[in-house]
Amino acid sequence: MNVLVINCGSSSLKYQLINSDTEEVLAKGLCERIGIDGRLVYQPAGGEKEIIESAMPTHKEAIQMVLAALANEKTGAVKSLSEIDAVGHRVVHGGEKFAKSVVLKPEVLAQIQECNDLAPLHNPANLIGIHACQELMPGVPMVGVFDTAFHQTMPKKAFLYGLPYEYYEKYKVRRYGFHGTSHSFVSKRTAEFLNLDLRNSKIIVAHLGNGASVSAVLNGECVDTSMGLTPLEGLVMGTRSGDIDPAIMEFLAKKENLDIEGVMNVLNKKSGVEGISGVSSDFRDLEAAYKEGNQRAIDACEVFSYRVAKYIGSYVAAMNGVDAIAFTAGIGENTSFIREKIVAYLGYLGITLDQEANKVRGEDQIISTKDSRVAVCVIPTNEELAIARETVALV
Ligand code: AMP
Repeated sequence: MNVLVINCGSSSLKYQLINSDTEEVLAKGLCERIGIDGRLVYQPAGGEKEIIESAMPTHKEAIQMVLAALANEKTGAVKSLSEIDAVGHRVVHGGEKFAKSVVLKPEVLAQIQECNDLAPLHNPANLIGIHACQELMPGVPMVGVFDTAFHQTMPKKAFLYGLPYEYYEKYKVRRYGFHGTSHSFVSKRTAEFLNLDLRNSKIIVAHLGNGASVSAVLNGECVDTSMGLTPLEGLVMGTRSGDIDPAIMEFLAKKENLDIEGVMNVLNKKSGVEGISGVSSDFRDLEAAYKEGNQRAIDACEVFSYRVAKYIGSYVAAMNGVDAIAFTAGIGENTSFIREKIVAYLGYLGITLDQEANKVRGEDQIISTKDSRVAVCVIPTNEELAIARETVALV
C-alpha cells in the first residue's frame, strides 16, 4: 500500500510517499512560501532533488503540484495517482476529543475545527491541507494523526494546572503535550530494541529538536510530558523559553512596553538557547561557539542540558523508577556533547556514559556502559513512518 503523508504548516507543506509494505520512502519533499509565491522541492528515492518555482496561492495548488510531481512521467514515484492508496495527515491539536488517530469523515473535521482555539496557528493550516487533499483525491481514504493523542492517557494529576477549575471546564485549559507521534514511536522502538516488555516497562523519551519535550511512558502509556496547553512549556528550546515564572510576562510587558502579543513573541521566537546565547538556535553553531569559549553559548548549553536532566529526574519520580532513557530528534540523535552533559547528571541512577558508543549519530544504539543500572540509548524518530503505519492500520 502506498501512503502519502502530509504535514501542513501555515505557509508550508511537507510530504512523503511511503510504501507501507516495505516501509520504503518512495519520494519526499516540501512546498514553501505558499500564499507568497511558491516553491516545490521534490526528491524521488535514489534520485536528484528537483526544485520547481511556481505560483501557490493556496495549499490546493501546492498539493496539486506535489501530486503532479509524484506522477510525473520521467521522475515520478508512481505511474498514476491511482497508486496512492491512502493519505495520512498530521494534525497538531486534537484536544480531549482525540486519543487516537481517526478516519477523516466530515463530522471528524468539524470536531478538529472545534480544537482550533487551542492551536490557532497550526490546526487551521492542517484543516486547509485536509480539505485540499479531499478535493483533489476524491474517494481516497484519509486519516488524521494527532500530536496530542498519545498523551491523552495522562492522569488528571499530571494534566491539571493549579488554576481555577472553571478554566478547565469552560475552556479546556490543561496540559495536552505534543510530539506524541514521536514519543509513541520511540518508546515502542526502545522497548523492542532493548528487549523490554513494553507492557511492563518505565521509559523516558527525550525528544530534543528545535522544539523539545520529554515524556514518561509507563507500561506503554504516557503518564506525563513536559509540553502543556501549547508547545511553549517545559524544556528550554531553540527559540522558546520553556518553563518560566509566569510573573515575568507582566514584568517584561511593563519594562519593555510590550503588549501580550509582544511578550508571546519574545517567549516563542526570541528566547531559548538562541536568546541566551545570542549565537543561534542550532546546536551545530552552539557547539562551535562553545568550543571557542563563547561564554553565552556555554551558558545556553548548560541551561539546556540541566533542564533536560531535571525533567528526567522528575519523571523517574513520577514512575517510581526507570528502565530506559531514549534520546531522539535532531539534537538527541546527533549532538553527542549535549547527551554527555545530560547523562553526567544521572549518576544517581547508576548510569555511566560509554564515551565511544556516544559518538553515534542517527542510529539505534545503547550509549550507557554495560554495567549501568538503566539503559540509555539513541533511537531515531520517524514521525512520517509512524503516521503511515497509523493510516494503514485504520484504512
Ligand atoms: P529537529 O527539530 O528534530 O529537526 O532538530 C533540529 C535541531 O537538531 C537543529 O537545530 C540542530 O540543533 C540539531 N541538529 C540537527 N542535525 C544535527 C547534526 N548533524 N549535528 C548536530 N546537531 C544537529
